[in-house]
Amino acid sequence: MSLTEKIPFLDLITPHQQLEPELTAVFHKVLRTAGFVGGPMVENFEREFAAFSDAKYCVALSSGTDAVRFALTAAGVQPGDIVITVPHTFIATTEAISQAGARPDFVDIDEQTYTMDVAKLREYLERECYVDRDTGRPYHRKYRAPVTAVVPVHIYGQCADMDPILELARRYNMIVVEDACQAHGAEYFSEKENRWKKAGSMGHAAAFSFYPGKNLGACGEAGAATTNSEAITRQMRMLRDHGQAKKYYHDIEGYNGRMDAVQAGILSVKLQHLADWNESRRERARKYNELFAAADANIILPKEPSRSKAVYHLFVVQVENREAVQAELAKQNIDTGIHYPVPLHLQKAYSNFGYGPGDFPVCENAAKRILSLPMFPGLTEADQVRVVEALVRSAQNTRRQDVLAV
Ligand SMILES: *Cc1c(COP(=O)(O)O)cnc(C)c1O
Repeated sequence: MSLTEKIPFLDLITPHQQLEPELTAVFHKVLRTAGFVGGPMVENFEREFAAFSDAKYCVALSSGTDAVRFALTAAGVQPGDIVITVPHTFIATTEAISQAGARPDFVDIDEQTYTMDVAKLREYLERECYVDRDTGRPYHRKYRAPVTAVVPVHIYGQCADMDPILELARRYNMIVVEDACQAHGAEYFSEKENRWKKAGSMGHAAAFSFYPGKNLGACGEAGAATTNSEAITRQMRMLRDHGQAKKYYHDIEGYNGRMDAVQAGILSVKLQHLADWNESRRERARKYNELFAAADANIILPKEPSRSKAVYHLFVVQVENREAVQAELAKQNIDTGIHYPVPLHLQKAYSNFGYGPGDFPVCENAAKRILSLPMFPGLTEADQVRVVEALVRSAQNTRRQDVLAV
């Protein structure tokens, strides 16, 4: 192997080659039954994924974005409501909130974990809202609207600090929808219940994405929502299917948000490997940490608190001179990513919200320095060594150039 051989950011080819006979068998089965949308394969996957996530119900959908949207609507978010999330997430989180008719608003993230800062959430509720006597819900003074839901994002595969979020939600009568689109199988230790809980089993409902690059990915677009509530399940099943529980009898106006049978069958095949794949990711994270610790460089590593078992959808470090470091790694044929370079409150799409630089400083500071390293179950130790050596060297070099330039 030459030293300049490419290290990909993720490898979507190998696992599909390994599973090709089983995956093509799914396609043949669907062709022969012509049950292309919904049906027994979808129901089967729903049962399996609910069990995997320790949730009572799973509703298979066409994307993670729809999962967030349907979960919010089914749990009771109304047009005009405010839904709180973080600015450090993929825009799908806030798109779904807007598409549910609500207004997304933000609280900053925790510096260590990149997930919602619970103290900031409490502050938001206490300072910017008063409690409406009739509903027991917070009412935003400036926007003159009720705050009805919170969407914590289990970013990079690590659960947000759910105990205090759920506690605030109970106190303020708010809905909690977990954005677990990056966190299939992640676990959180609830002090309150003294047990580990799975992502997708903690809020009123939760959203998962099976976009190909996620820890569990379809061969196309797919998503799902989980919940322990029968009523929310019923509502989400209607929303995904044009608002009908019985064909052509439409109780509400819904959407076309169902999952294809082919994708469900493929996801069932791959779900059998997900626990192993997640464990491989955790092993690779441990290896990265070990290699970086030995290198003693000025690189901030991901933090995994004792309450968390993260599934490392992404392995994100922080470096000075991120652009230079990333370019240097690219020169050495090492692919990296930035998740995400522009915080949502500074996106052009949300300029109407009136936020500016400095409003969510923890997120903004992270956005300038974060770098996602190659992370996937088949990543070899030799490649990890090469990534770490290249990163440490270029972090030192770019710093030296900085000093020379002064
Ligand atoms: C991928 C992702 C989504 C959206 O999922 P799609 O299936 O692409 O619609 C939502 N939120 C987060 C945090 C994601 O990473």
